[in-house]
Amino acid sequence: MSTGVLELSAVSKVYPPPTSVTALDRIDLVVDAGETVAITGASGAGKSTLLSILGTLERPTSGTVRVAGVDVSGLSDPELSDVRATRLGFVFQQFFLLEHLSVLDNVATGLLYRGVPARVRRERATAALYEVGLAGRIRHRAGQLSGGERQRVAIARAIVGQPAVLLADEPTGNLDSATGAEITRLLSGLAGVTTVVLITHNADVAAAMRRRVHLHDGRIVSDTRVVGDSHVVGDSHVVGDTRKDS
Ligand code: ADP
Repeated sequence: MSTGVLELSAVSKVYPPPTSVTALDRIDLVVDAGETVAITGASGAGKSTLLSILGTLERPTSGTVRVAGVDVSGLSDPELSDVRATRLGFVFQQFFLLEHLSVLDNVATGLLYRGVPARVRRERATAALYEVGLAGRIRHRAGQLSGGERQRVAIARAIVGQPAVLLADEPTGNLDSATGAEITRLLSGLAGVTTVVLITHNADVAAAMRRRVHLHDGRIVSDTRVVGDSHVVGDSHVVGDTRKDS
């Protein structure tokens, strides 16, 4: 039986009065392990709300959300924090690095709440920095890095705990187009490492992901997957070539 690493069933989000905006309207979405997914749509379409719900930072008004097999609907705030710390990684438009710390220590902080000994934290951080192509900058302070390098550090910090899903909000939004293209390649290449779900306004970034989910007024209006070199539009979940047991 196929279970997605992210499973949303009839998820709605209605913000409270006075706005009472329906930001998401009965969203059904299953993301399988190893997928790379771009969430697109005009401003106000519901992208940030969707990402916040996937990241357990917001609770839906109705519907169910499963993250790595765990139904998060009934969890307490501390339990949700635990899900975030162990199952999810986050990357933002801003890099949120500790400028005075070394690159290695910035990445190792991604494991602080896991009870991992310091030596193991550093070993895993080193491995994550290799993964993002920054092995040569391990001892630099974060404040000495370029924008693209900073985002690589942020990505390494997000994947160092081997999350089931990496959630990214406009990860290339602060970068020039050439650097943004490098970060996009890095993210799309993480398919063997984790599952990637990102929000983007950039068509090139969206095109580099193997699946595109387009929102309009809180609904999914198209869901496109790449099968080989062709694009298939539809809701059916047909491609299982990157599925992993994890
Ligand atoms: P997007 O990320 O696609 O721009 P959002 O998820 O931010 O869309 O917003 C979807 C809708 O929900 C918009 O109409 C927005 O104004 C509304 N909205 C977002 N956050 C809040 C909030 N905290 N309170 C009230 N309305 C909100």
